[in-house]
Amino acid sequence: MAENSRKQELDKTLAARRLAARRKKRRKRVIQVWIRRGIAGAVLILVVVGLFFGIRGILGLFRKEAEPSPYGLPDYIQEEYLTINPYSRPGVKLPGGVQGVVVHYVANPGSTAQNNRDYFEGLKNSGDTSASSNFIIGLEGEIIACVPIDEVAYASNSANDYTLSIECCHPDETGQFTEATYESLVRLTAYLCDRFGLESGDVVRHYDVSPSQKACPLYFVEHEDAWEAFRQEVQEATDALRAETAAEENGGAEETGEPAGEGGGAEETGEPAEGSNGAEE
Ligand SMILES: [Zn+2]
Repeated sequence: MAENSRKQELDKTLAARRLAARRKKRRKRVIQVWIRRGIAGAVLILVVVGLFFGIRGILGLFRKEAEPSPYGLPDYIQEEYLTINPYSRPGVKLPGGVQGVVVHYVANPGSTAQNNRDYFEGLKNSGDTSASSNFIIGLEGEIIACVPIDEVAYASNSANDYTLSIECCHPDETGQFTEATYESLVRLTAYLCDRFGLESGDVVRHYDVSPSQKACPLYFVEHEDAWEAFRQEVQEATDALRAETAAEENGGAEETGEPAGEGGGAEETGEPAEGSNGAEE
């Protein structure tokens, strides 16, 4: 009888152990499932994050050109500054600030803005001569900035210390600019006049600051009337830029005026809105 009950006891213990083992196994399986789900989740997050940054990185490559200019120049100007060197970019700040703009022609028919920029850059190795320019305008109207607007370039002899220089490419020996070059020249010169508080009278030819040097820019030296017409266009473009800036500063009223459908009225009352302008500043 005693033996029988001991056997029953033993059976019960065995059954309990088996049950415990089964529970343990089940718990293990549940944990494994959760681990697997966790790993899958982590992988998914990594893939999503990777895609996000990957796509952003790839887009970033294309967006490179949209980086803001360190000198606050408009985006139609390509900045390809020369390496600082004694022959083309001394790295010296303009001692007299910007008091004028000097116009030049490259005197090398058919050469591009890039050709001329690379020539200036090459002088650091060849040391052939000292030459450069703050800007070069190409045959297609492209504008390359070679020397920053607060630094001396070697273009205009004695005027280097207080002026910015613009070299212009030209297709042939006459030195006449293409229409695209001419338009970019007006645009850039007006931009500089507006930025540095200059007038068209402060825009001169290389010939004006150094008559003995050379007839530069040739076409404008030989065609005084064309030069005067150019200056006038620069003044008009400068005035237009200034009017634009003034309108923007008065802006609050003008811009909110348009959706309200009374653009004209808002524009005319733009002047009394000066009060709000003062408040903004
Ligand atoms: Zn010149």
